[in-house]
Amino acid sequence: MSQQTIVIALGGNAMQQPGQKGTHEIQLENVRIACEEIYKVRKAGYRVVLTSGNGPQVGAIKLQNQAAAGVSPEMPLFCCGAMSQGIIGYWMQQSMGNVLRSAGEEAKVVTVVTQSIVDSNDKAFANPTKPVGRFYTEAEAKEVMEKEGKIMKEDAGRGWRVVVPSPRPQTIVEYKVIKQLIDSGVIVVCTNGGGIPVIEKNGKLEGVDSVIDKDLATSLLATQLSSDYLMILTDVPNAYINYKQPNQEKLETITLERMLDLESQGHFKAGSMGPKVRAAIEFVQKTGNPAIITSLDKAVDALAGVCGTRIVK
Ligand code: ADP
Ligand code: MG
Repeated sequence: MSQQTIVIALGGNAMQQPGQKGTHEIQLENVRIACEEIYKVRKAGYRVVLTSGNGPQVGAIKLQNQAAAGVSPEMPLFCCGAMSQGIIGYWMQQSMGNVLRSAGEEAKVVTVVTQSIVDSNDKAFANPTKPVGRFYTEAEAKEVMEKEGKIMKEDAGRGWRVVVPSPRPQTIVEYKVIKQLIDSGVIVVCTNGGGIPVIEKNGKLEGVDSVIDKDLATSLLATQLSSDYLMILTDVPNAYINYKQPNQEKLETITLERMLDLESQGHFKAGSMGPKVRAAIEFVQKTGNPAIITSLDKAVDALAGVCGTRIVK
């Protein structure tokens, strides 16, 4: 039987833990640890595709661009997204390559700079919500809004920031090339940060300042690849109902219908577990294949069915 494919989304903790500084050394070390776990999944006999978030990385690149704007032109957010894919891809290629080589395997790992098409009519564009980049005073903010046409909002008493929309990804532009790479035995790193958001205009693609949820984009990628599994690795071993309450209950193997019910009851927080559960649901609905939500260190055991939350048809 040919090997099964698994698309794995790495959470923010795979690069930076809470309280850590985002130095190169710290992030590289975290990625190294993540790659050792991912290697175990490959050893268990799966073809692996790796995606990740990029929130802290793209945020840092944007701040660096803004701080240096007087000496070097500030790049738009979508370009900062592209840069973040480069650095994350570099860390992963190198770390995964090192793990493969020390196991005596050929290091066939490559990063695909990935674009995600969003709909320019997406409702999110009318209501940008995600704060990005530096803080401005109210007076500065008014000037930026007037001169650059950006939308800014006051962020929790800390100052004014640019807000960008978070539209839904519609298609992963490079998915066919990614499929070819997987089929030839390459470990592919792609769709980091959910992909670079682009819109289609007169048959051409162009970048648009927005952020894409990495869980939804990973689900879309896994669906377009007809992957056998979607696996979302984060910093908790399961999705729970009544999370952080005395009657908290961990979810193990659970049907799509029950998960849809629990989702509508509001058990999964927007912006954290919510998009993971939605991503899992959509993958199972569209492919009939299982989706797993668990923590990085439990990936192999979750695939074997002994832990994690597994949503099945
Ligand atoms: P990632 O960087 O992996 O995307 P997030 O912080 O976005 O991680 O999401 C994981 C977090 O979701 C967990 O650390 C947990 O605090 C939170 N969370 C919210 N609701 C739930 C729930 N119902 N079950 C489990 N975790 C939950
Ligand atoms: Mg998240």
